[in-house]
Amino acid sequence: MQYRIHNKTGAEVSLLGLGCMRLPKPDPSSEGIDYAAAKAMVDTAWQRGIRYFDTAWAYHGGESELFIGKALQDYPRESFFLADKMPAWALESKEDREKVFSRQLEKCGVDYFDFYLLHSVQNSNWDRYEELEVYNFLARKKAEGKIRRLGFSYHGDVPLLETVLKAHEWDFVQIQLNYLDWELQDAKTQYRLITEAGLQCMIMEPVRGGALADLCPEANAILRSAAPDRSIASWAIRFAAGLPGVLCVLSGMSTPEQLEDNLSTMEAFTPLSDAEKEALDAALAEYRKARTIPCTGCRYCLPCPMGVAIPDVFRLYNHKYAFSHSAESLKNAVGDLEGGPAACVACGQCLDKCPQSIAIPTHMQEICELVK
Ligand code: SF4
Ligand code: SF4
Repeated sequence: MQYRIHNKTGAEVSLLGLGCMRLPKPDPSSEGIDYAAAKAMVDTAWQRGIRYFDTAWAYHGGESELFIGKALQDYPRESFFLADKMPAWALESKEDREKVFSRQLEKCGVDYFDFYLLHSVQNSNWDRYEELEVYNFLARKKAEGKIRRLGFSYHGDVPLLETVLKAHEWDFVQIQLNYLDWELQDAKTQYRLITEAGLQCMIMEPVRGGALADLCPEANAILRSAAPDRSIASWAIRFAAGLPGVLCVLSGMSTPEQLEDNLSTMEAFTPLSDAEKEALDAALAEYRKARTIPCTGCRYCLPCPMGVAIPDVFRLYNHKYAFSHSAESLKNAVGDLEGGPAACVACGQCLDKCPQSIAIPTHMQEICELVK
Protein backbone atom coordinates (compact mmCIF):
# COMPACT_ATOMS: atom_id res chain seq x y z
CA MET A 1 0.00 0.00 0.00
CA GLN A 2 1.19 3.48 -0.73
CA TYR A 3 0.80 6.28 1.80
CA ARG A 4 0.67 10.03 1.43
CA ILE A 5 1.38 12.69 4.00
CA HIS A 6 -1.35 15.11 5.08
CA ASN A 7 0.28 18.45 4.42
CA LYS A 8 -1.26 20.22 7.45
CA THR A 9 -0.66 17.61 10.16
CA GLY A 10 1.92 15.13 8.87
CA ALA A 11 -0.50 12.20 9.20
CA GLU A 12 0.46 9.25 6.99
CA VAL A 13 -2.72 8.21 5.18
CA SER A 14 -3.18 5.13 2.97
CA LEU A 15 -3.77 6.15 -0.64
CA LEU A 16 -6.76 3.78 -0.71
CA GLY A 17 -9.55 4.27 1.84
CA LEU A 18 -12.58 2.12 2.59
CA GLY A 19 -15.84 4.01 2.03
CA CYS A 20 -18.52 2.52 4.29
CA MET A 21 -21.64 3.43 2.28
CA ARG A 22 -21.88 0.33 0.08
CA LEU A 23 -20.92 -2.49 2.42
CA PRO A 24 -22.25 -6.01 1.75
CA LYS A 25 -25.95 -6.37 2.59
CA PRO A 26 -27.93 -9.40 3.76
CA ASP A 27 -30.60 -8.48 1.23
CA PRO A 28 -29.92 -6.19 -1.77
CA SER A 29 -33.13 -4.18 -1.30
CA SER A 30 -32.46 -3.39 2.38
CA GLU A 31 -30.23 -0.73 3.97
CA GLY A 32 -28.76 -3.30 6.38
CA ILE A 33 -25.21 -4.65 6.58
CA ASP A 34 -24.05 -8.26 6.42
CA TYR A 35 -21.81 -7.88 9.48
CA ALA A 36 -19.80 -11.07 8.97
CA ALA A 37 -19.01 -10.35 5.32
CA ALA A 38 -18.30 -6.66 5.96
CA LYS A 39 -16.11 -7.42 8.97
CA ALA A 40 -14.05 -9.86 6.90
CA MET A 41 -13.51 -7.08 4.34
CA VAL A 42 -12.44 -4.60 7.04
CA ASP A 43 -9.96 -7.14 8.42
CA THR A 44 -8.49 -7.81 4.96
CA ALA A 45 -8.33 -4.05 4.30
CA TRP A 46 -6.46 -3.45 7.54
CA GLN A 47 -4.07 -6.38 7.05
CA ARG A 48 -3.22 -5.12 3.54
CA GLY A 49 -2.50 -1.57 4.73
CA ILE A 50 -5.75 0.43 4.42
CA ARG A 51 -5.82 2.86 7.32
CA TYR A 52 -8.62 5.26 6.32
CA PHE A 53 -12.27 4.38 6.99
CA ASP A 54 -15.02 6.80 5.97
CA THR A 55 -18.52 6.63 7.41
CA ALA A 56 -21.50 9.00 7.78
CA TRP A 57 -24.75 9.45 9.70
CA ALA A 58 -26.84 8.54 6.68
CA TYR A 59 -24.93 5.53 5.34
CA HIS A 60 -26.83 2.24 5.49
CA GLY A 61 -29.75 3.97 7.24
CA GLY A 62 -27.53 4.84 10.22
CA GLU A 63 -25.98 1.38 10.61
CA SER A 64 -22.64 2.18 8.97
CA GLU A 65 -21.31 4.12 11.99
CA LEU A 66 -22.34 1.34 14.38
CA PHE A 67 -20.74 -1.29 12.17
CA ILE A 68 -17.40 0.38 11.51
CA GLY A 69 -17.01 1.39 15.17
CA LYS A 70 -17.46 -2.23 16.18
CA ALA A 71 -15.30 -3.62 13.39
CA LEU A 72 -12.36 -1.36 14.25
CA GLN A 73 -12.42 -2.17 17.95
CA ASP A 74 -9.99 -5.05 17.24
CA TYR A 75 -7.30 -2.53 16.27
CA PRO A 76 -5.38 0.05 18.32
CA ARG A 77 -7.15 3.42 18.13
CA GLU A 78 -4.03 5.27 16.94
CA SER A 79 -3.47 2.74 14.09
CA PHE A 80 -6.32 3.92 11.82
CA PHE A 81 -8.05 7.08 10.70
CA LEU A 82 -11.81 7.27 11.14
CA ALA A 83 -13.79 9.92 9.24
CA ASP A 84 -17.39 10.91 9.98
CA LYS A 85 -19.68 13.74 8.85
CA MET A 86 -22.21 16.25 10.20
CA PRO A 87 -25.52 15.92 8.29
CA ALA A 88 -27.23 19.28 7.57
CA TRP A 89 -30.56 17.52 7.12
CA ALA A 90 -30.54 16.24 10.74
CA LEU A 91 -30.10 19.76 12.18
CA GLU A 92 -33.12 21.87 13.08
CA SER A 93 -31.55 23.90 15.85
CA LYS A 94 -28.12 24.68 17.31
CA GLU A 95 -28.80 22.15 20.08
CA ASP A 96 -28.96 19.39 17.46
CA ARG A 97 -25.26 19.87 16.60
CA GLU A 98 -24.19 18.49 19.99
CA LYS A 99 -26.85 15.78 19.95
CA VAL A 100 -25.71 14.47 16.57
CA PHE A 101 -21.97 14.76 17.27
CA SER A 102 -22.15 13.05 20.69
CA ARG A 103 -24.29 10.30 19.27
CA GLN A 104 -21.79 9.75 16.44
CA LEU A 105 -18.91 9.33 18.91
CA GLU A 106 -21.07 6.93 20.89
CA LYS A 107 -22.14 4.94 17.81
CA CYS A 108 -18.55 4.61 16.62
CA GLY A 109 -17.27 3.77 20.11
CA VAL A 110 -14.50 6.41 19.94
CA ASP A 111 -13.71 9.62 21.78
CA TYR A 112 -12.41 11.53 18.76
CA PHE A 113 -12.63 11.55 14.97
CA ASP A 114 -9.42 11.76 12.93
CA PHE A 115 -11.18 13.50 10.05
CA TYR A 116 -14.57 15.18 10.31
CA LEU A 117 -16.58 16.82 7.54
CA LEU A 118 -19.58 18.98 6.90
CA HIS A 119 -21.48 16.49 4.78
CA SER A 120 -22.58 17.21 1.22
CA VAL A 121 -22.03 20.96 1.01
CA GLN A 122 -24.19 22.48 -1.73
CA ASN A 123 -26.40 25.58 -1.73
CA SER A 124 -29.18 24.64 0.69
CA ASN A 125 -26.96 22.60 3.04
CA TRP A 126 -24.38 25.39 3.16
CA ASP A 127 -27.05 27.92 4.19
CA ARG A 128 -28.13 25.58 7.00
CA TYR A 129 -24.54 25.05 8.18
CA GLU A 130 -23.87 28.78 8.26
CA GLU A 131 -27.21 29.71 9.85
CA LEU A 132 -26.60 27.24 12.69
CA GLU A 133 -22.90 28.20 13.01
CA VAL A 134 -21.88 24.59 12.57
CA TYR A 135 -18.28 25.45 11.66
CA ASN A 136 -17.81 27.32 14.95
CA PHE A 137 -19.26 24.39 16.86
CA LEU A 138 -16.90 21.95 15.12
CA ALA A 139 -13.91 24.26 15.55
CA ARG A 140 -14.60 24.11 19.30
CA LYS A 141 -14.68 20.31 19.11
CA LYS A 142 -11.34 20.44 17.32
CA ALA A 143 -9.89 22.66 20.06
CA GLU A 144 -11.15 20.09 22.62
CA GLY A 145 -9.35 17.30 20.71
CA LYS A 146 -12.53 15.55 19.62
CA ILE A 147 -11.82 16.33 15.96
CA ARG A 148 -8.27 16.13 14.63
CA ARG A 149 -8.84 17.50 11.11
CA LEU A 150 -11.83 19.45 9.84
CA GLY A 151 -13.06 19.58 6.25
CA PHE A 152 -16.16 19.30 4.09
CA SER A 153 -17.49 17.05 1.36
CA TYR A 154 -18.62 18.96 -1.69
CA HIS A 155 -21.45 18.58 -4.20
CA GLY A 156 -22.07 22.16 -5.33
CA ASP A 157 -20.91 24.37 -8.18
CA VAL A 158 -17.62 26.19 -8.64
CA PRO A 159 -18.70 29.67 -7.37
CA LEU A 160 -20.01 28.21 -4.10
CA LEU A 161 -16.80 26.21 -3.67
CA GLU A 162 -14.82 29.44 -3.87
CA THR A 163 -17.07 30.95 -1.17
CA VAL A 164 -16.78 27.94 1.12
CA LEU A 165 -13.01 27.71 0.77
CA LYS A 166 -12.68 31.36 1.80
CA ALA A 167 -15.29 31.26 4.57
CA HIS A 168 -13.30 29.26 7.14
CA GLU A 169 -10.00 27.56 7.92
CA TRP A 170 -10.10 24.02 6.53
CA ASP A 171 -7.75 21.03 6.71
CA PHE A 172 -8.92 19.10 3.61
CA VAL A 173 -11.80 18.81 1.15
CA GLN A 174 -13.62 15.73 -0.16
CA ILE A 175 -14.83 15.92 -3.75
CA GLN A 176 -16.37 13.66 -6.35
CA LEU A 177 -13.64 13.13 -8.90
CA ASN A 178 -13.23 10.57 -11.64
CA TYR A 179 -12.32 10.66 -15.33
CA LEU A 180 -15.97 11.19 -16.37
CA ASP A 181 -16.70 13.99 -13.86
CA TRP A 182 -13.36 15.66 -14.61
CA GLU A 183 -15.30 17.50 -17.35
CA LEU A 184 -18.96 16.54 -16.70
CA GLN A 185 -19.09 18.06 -13.20
CA ASP A 186 -15.99 20.24 -13.62
CA ALA A 187 -14.02 18.27 -11.02
CA LYS A 188 -10.97 19.63 -12.85
CA THR A 189 -11.68 23.20 -11.68
CA GLN A 190 -12.69 22.04 -8.20
CA TYR A 191 -9.40 20.14 -7.86
CA ARG A 192 -7.46 23.20 -9.05
CA LEU A 193 -9.18 25.58 -6.62
CA ILE A 194 -8.69 23.26 -3.65
CA THR A 195 -5.01 22.61 -4.33
CA GLU A 196 -4.41 26.32 -5.02
CA ALA A 197 -5.88 26.96 -1.56
CA GLY A 198 -3.12 24.73 -0.15
CA LEU A 199 -5.44 21.83 0.68
CA GLN A 200 -5.41 18.18 -0.34
CA CYS A 201 -8.37 16.25 -1.70
CA MET A 202 -10.09 13.14 -0.46
CA ILE A 203 -11.71 11.53 -3.48
CA MET A 204 -15.20 10.07 -3.40
CA GLU A 205 -16.91 8.16 -6.21
CA PRO A 206 -13.66 7.44 -8.11
CA VAL A 207 -15.52 4.63 -9.91
CA ARG A 208 -18.81 6.59 -9.97
CA GLY A 209 -20.87 4.13 -7.94
CA GLY A 210 -19.56 1.25 -10.08
CA ALA A 211 -20.48 2.80 -13.44
CA LEU A 212 -16.81 3.07 -14.42
CA ALA A 213 -16.17 -0.58 -13.57
CA ASP A 214 -18.00 -1.66 -16.71
CA LEU A 215 -18.30 0.85 -19.55
CA CYS A 216 -19.96 0.07 -22.88
CA PRO A 217 -18.56 -2.89 -24.91
CA GLU A 218 -16.63 -0.60 -27.29
CA ALA A 219 -14.97 1.36 -24.46
CA ASN A 220 -14.23 -1.81 -22.47
CA ALA A 221 -12.54 -3.29 -25.54
CA ILE A 222 -10.23 -0.27 -25.88
CA LEU A 223 -9.12 -0.49 -22.25
CA ARG A 224 -8.74 -4.29 -22.32
CA SER A 225 -6.61 -4.08 -25.42
CA ALA A 226 -4.38 -1.39 -23.84
CA ALA A 227 -3.91 -3.36 -20.57
CA PRO A 228 -5.22 -6.95 -20.81
CA ASP A 229 -4.33 -7.81 -17.21
CA ARG A 230 -6.01 -4.83 -15.60
CA SER A 231 -9.67 -4.51 -14.61
CA ILE A 232 -11.81 -1.70 -16.06
CA ALA A 233 -12.28 -0.29 -12.53
CA SER A 234 -8.52 -0.05 -12.01
CA TRP A 235 -8.30 2.68 -14.67
CA ALA A 236 -10.63 4.86 -12.60
CA ILE A 237 -8.75 4.27 -9.36
CA ARG A 238 -5.41 5.02 -11.03
CA PHE A 239 -6.77 8.19 -12.68
CA ALA A 240 -7.76 9.62 -9.28
CA ALA A 241 -4.71 8.38 -7.37
CA GLY A 242 -2.37 9.75 -10.04
CA LEU A 243 -3.20 13.35 -9.15
CA PRO A 244 -0.54 14.71 -6.77
CA GLY A 245 -3.00 16.81 -4.72
CA VAL A 246 -4.97 13.69 -3.73
CA LEU A 247 -4.44 12.40 -0.20
CA CYS A 248 -6.76 9.39 -0.27
CA VAL A 249 -9.02 7.68 -2.82
CA LEU A 250 -12.16 6.35 -1.13
CA SER A 251 -13.85 3.42 -2.72
CA GLY A 252 -17.23 2.14 -1.51
CA MET A 253 -16.49 -1.54 -1.92
CA SER A 254 -19.29 -4.09 -1.66
CA THR A 255 -17.58 -7.43 -2.30
CA PRO A 256 -14.26 -9.13 -1.46
CA GLU A 257 -13.53 -9.22 -5.20
CA GLN A 258 -13.82 -5.43 -5.49
CA LEU A 259 -11.59 -5.03 -2.45
CA GLU A 260 -9.01 -7.42 -3.91
CA ASP A 261 -9.06 -5.63 -7.25
CA ASN A 262 -8.56 -2.21 -5.61
CA LEU A 263 -5.86 -3.53 -3.30
CA SER A 264 -3.91 -5.08 -6.15
CA THR A 265 -4.19 -1.79 -8.09
CA MET A 266 -2.93 0.25 -5.14
CA GLU A 267 -0.28 -2.14 -3.88
CA ALA A 268 1.49 -1.87 -7.21
CA PHE A 269 0.27 1.65 -7.95
CA THR A 270 1.63 3.43 -10.97
CA PRO A 271 0.02 6.54 -12.46
CA LEU A 272 -1.45 6.31 -15.97
CA SER A 273 1.25 6.59 -18.63
CA ASP A 274 0.81 8.94 -21.61
CA ALA A 275 -0.18 5.99 -23.83
CA GLU A 276 -2.73 4.86 -21.22
CA LYS A 277 -4.15 8.38 -20.99
CA GLU A 278 -4.69 8.33 -24.76
CA ALA A 279 -6.44 4.94 -24.53
CA LEU A 280 -8.63 6.28 -21.73
CA ASP A 281 -9.60 9.34 -23.81
CA ALA A 282 -10.59 7.05 -26.69
CA ALA A 283 -12.64 4.81 -24.37
CA LEU A 284 -14.32 7.83 -22.81
CA ALA A 285 -15.30 9.15 -26.25
CA GLU A 286 -17.06 5.82 -26.93
CA TYR A 287 -18.71 5.80 -23.50
CA ARG A 288 -20.03 9.36 -23.87
CA LYS A 289 -21.92 8.40 -27.03
CA ALA A 290 -24.21 6.21 -24.90
CA ARG A 291 -25.65 9.15 -22.90
CA THR A 292 -26.21 7.26 -19.66
CA ILE A 293 -28.04 8.88 -16.74
CA PRO A 294 -25.25 9.92 -14.33
CA CYS A 295 -26.75 8.28 -11.21
CA THR A 296 -24.20 6.96 -8.69
CA GLY A 297 -26.74 4.87 -6.75
CA CYS A 298 -26.13 6.86 -3.54
CA ARG A 299 -29.87 6.62 -2.61
CA TYR A 300 -29.97 10.15 -1.10
CA CYS A 301 -33.15 10.78 -3.13
CA LEU A 302 -35.04 8.05 -1.26
CA PRO A 303 -37.63 7.50 0.04
CA CYS A 304 -39.86 8.73 -2.77
CA PRO A 305 -43.40 9.34 -1.43
CA MET A 306 -44.78 7.34 -4.36
CA GLY A 307 -42.39 4.46 -3.81
CA VAL A 308 -40.41 4.96 -7.02
CA ALA A 309 -37.17 2.95 -6.78
CA ILE A 310 -35.24 5.83 -8.37
CA PRO A 311 -31.67 4.44 -8.47
CA ASP A 312 -32.93 1.01 -9.59
CA VAL A 313 -34.87 2.56 -12.48
CA PHE A 314 -31.77 4.50 -13.61
CA ARG A 315 -29.50 1.45 -13.24
CA LEU A 316 -31.85 -0.56 -15.46
CA TYR A 317 -32.04 2.25 -18.00
CA ASN A 318 -28.24 2.49 -18.16
CA HIS A 319 -27.70 -1.27 -18.40
CA LYS A 320 -30.64 -2.25 -20.57
CA TYR A 321 -31.09 0.72 -22.86
CA ALA A 322 -28.28 3.29 -22.98
CA PHE A 323 -25.83 1.03 -24.81
CA SER A 324 -28.10 -1.37 -26.72
CA HIS A 325 -31.14 0.87 -27.33
CA SER A 326 -33.33 -2.16 -26.69
CA ALA A 327 -36.65 -0.73 -25.48
CA GLU A 328 -37.97 -4.30 -25.21
CA SER A 329 -35.31 -5.40 -22.76
CA LEU A 330 -35.78 -2.18 -20.75
CA LYS A 331 -39.55 -2.76 -20.70
CA ASN A 332 -39.12 -6.32 -19.37
CA ALA A 333 -36.68 -5.23 -16.67
CA VAL A 334 -38.77 -2.24 -15.55
CA GLY A 335 -41.92 -4.38 -15.62
CA ASP A 336 -40.39 -6.69 -13.00
CA LEU A 337 -39.44 -3.80 -10.73
CA GLU A 338 -41.38 -2.82 -7.64
CA GLY A 339 -41.49 1.00 -7.80
CA GLY A 340 -41.29 1.57 -11.55
CA PRO A 341 -41.17 4.98 -13.28
CA ALA A 342 -44.94 5.09 -13.91
CA ALA A 343 -45.55 5.78 -10.21
CA CYS A 344 -43.74 9.14 -10.42
CA VAL A 345 -46.14 12.10 -10.06
CA ALA A 346 -43.39 14.69 -10.66
CA CYS A 347 -43.76 16.16 -7.16
CA GLY A 348 -40.09 17.23 -7.30
CA GLN A 349 -39.31 16.23 -3.70
CA CYS A 350 -36.28 14.24 -4.82
CA LEU A 351 -34.68 17.04 -6.86
CA ASP A 352 -32.84 18.93 -4.11
CA LYS A 353 -31.61 15.71 -2.54
CA CYS A 354 -29.69 14.52 -5.59
CA PRO A 355 -26.00 15.51 -5.40
CA GLN A 356 -25.67 14.84 -9.14
CA SER A 357 -28.45 17.37 -9.98
CA ILE A 358 -30.25 14.77 -12.08
CA ALA A 359 -33.64 15.87 -13.48
CA ILE A 360 -35.27 12.81 -11.89
CA PRO A 361 -38.97 13.36 -12.79
CA THR A 362 -38.06 14.31 -16.38
CA HIS A 363 -36.09 11.11 -16.80
CA MET A 364 -38.91 9.08 -15.23
CA GLN A 365 -41.30 10.49 -17.82
CA GLU A 366 -38.86 9.74 -20.67
CA ILE A 367 -38.39 6.16 -19.47
CA CYS A 368 -42.19 5.73 -19.30
CA GLU A 369 -42.41 6.85 -22.93
CA LEU A 370 -39.69 4.37 -23.94
CA VAL A 371 -41.38 1.38 -22.32
CA LYS A 372 -44.91 2.21 -23.44
S1 SF4 B 1 -40.57 13.53 -8.54
FE1 SF4 B 1 -41.22 11.41 -8.87
S2 SF4 B 1 -39.47 10.19 -8.25
FE2 SF4 B 1 -39.15 12.24 -7.39
S3 SF4 B 1 -40.01 12.11 -5.32
FE3 SF4 B 1 -41.65 12.86 -6.65
S4 SF4 B 1 -42.76 11.02 -7.28
FE4 SF4 B 1 -40.78 10.34 -6.47
S1 SF4 C 1 -30.81 9.87 -8.52
FE1 SF4 C 1 -29.27 11.16 -7.52
S2 SF4 C 1 -29.69 10.97 -5.32
FE2 SF4 C 1 -30.79 9.29 -6.34
S3 SF4 C 1 -29.38 7.56 -6.24
FE3 SF4 C 1 -29.00 8.58 -8.21
S4 SF4 C 1 -27.34 10.05 -7.82
FE4 SF4 C 1 -28.13 9.42 -5.80
